[in-house]
Amino acid sequence: MGKPIENPAPAFDWETRFWWEGCARGELWLQRCAACGVLRHRPRAVCPACLSGEVAYEQASGRGTVYTFTVTHQNHAPPFRGCTPYVLAYVELEEGPRVLTNVVGCEPDAVRVGMPVVVDFGEVQGEIAVPRFRPA
Ligand SMILES: [Zn+2]
Repeated sequence: MGKPIENPAPAFDWETRFWWEGCARGELWLQRCAACGVLRHRPRAVCPACLSGEVAYEQASGRGTVYTFTVTHQNHAPPFRGCTPYVLAYVELEEGPRVLTNVVGCEPDAVRVGMPVVVDFGEVQGEIAVPRFRPA
């Protein structure tokens, strides 16, 4: 396991601000279409199912399972240099949407598809906390 990844600050915009502000509070928030009810992630202005712009927000549990993953053994780009090997994964939240993230808190070889995980916001850096997941 390499050193922890220190992400550069994500760019906030009006579509993603609620997500990053929630993460800084230690919370995961999702969008639900107020017209058709589809729950979605990544944040976006328009429902991918019905194209409605009506949106409501719901807090997610922070629990999920590994949907798929890869172990990165080489990455020379900062800030990832020295952080390998690390796990890049899609975690399927128990609410349904999938989050592109890292799995931390275990050796990369221990990660399995279907493994139960919980969100881990790590250390808040200023206004920023990046949600990662660790074994439940
Ligand atoms: Zn919709």
